[in-house]
Amino acid sequence: MHVRKGAVFAVVERNELHHPERAVPDPGGLRPPRLSPDPNRQTIMAGELERLASDIRHCRRCVEAPDGTPLPHEPRPVLRVSSHARICICGQAPGSRVHASGVPFTDPSGDRLRDWMGVSEAEFYDAERIAIIPMGFCFPGLDAKGGDLPPRKECAPLWRQRLFGILPEIELMLLVGGYAQRWHMGTGAARSVTGTVRNWNPGDRLDDGPGLIPLPHPSWRNNAWLKRNPWFGTRVLPVLKREVRTRME
Ligand code: SF4
Repeated sequence: MHVRKGAVFAVVERNELHHPERAVPDPGGLRPPRLSPDPNRQTIMAGELERLASDIRHCRRCVEAPDGTPLPHEPRPVLRVSSHARICICGQAPGSRVHASGVPFTDPSGDRLRDWMGVSEAEFYDAERIAIIPMGFCFPGLDAKGGDLPPRKECAPLWRQRLFGILPEIELMLLVGGYAQRWHMGTGAARSVTGTVRNWNPGDRLDDGPGLIPLPHPSWRNNAWLKRNPWFGTRVLPVLKREVRTRME
């Protein structure tokens, strides 16, 4: 566990875009007014977060009471949270490499995501500024073709609402892939990741939550998609970089 500034902590161990013909609107509205936090409330919520994170670290639901086939290995939940982070990356689930290391995005996908966000590795792993909360906390195993299985369906209903209920500082959520987009955008998500990102409007859901930016997965598997859609790099990524940088300072 990485510990900084007392109440701020990170949990690591045991743990497919905007319409190409449309300009990306000014996303200034993504930022709600930043109010002075109540220190007493912050301390209470930090304690609640630490307890909940500990519960997640010790979760064995997918081996002891699975919905269907049990997890084929020991659970190792991988997430990074803190009570001060203003940015949250909501990905899919750890792959085999992350399952082994316990550290998220330690692969070429992570390099590309950091490049998209315009952050250094040190900034990316600063849990005080960036939370990383996948839809499934444990590596779900491989399918018959050797691909990663989808995130365990037990995980999000069990933990997600409680977790985000005590992360009041989150202002910007990067929704990487369809699972996170469907969960956090609800009916605002299209049937495909491409459709969701095409339809994205930076002003979405400003009245009832943090700004949401849907993104494709930064995997090499999307290289062909990225080549077919160069507008993603010229229109969307500058907005993403700007919004991230604003919240890193
Ligand atoms: S995937 Fe989620 S619900 Fe399943 S064991 Fe891991 S932490 Fe628990």
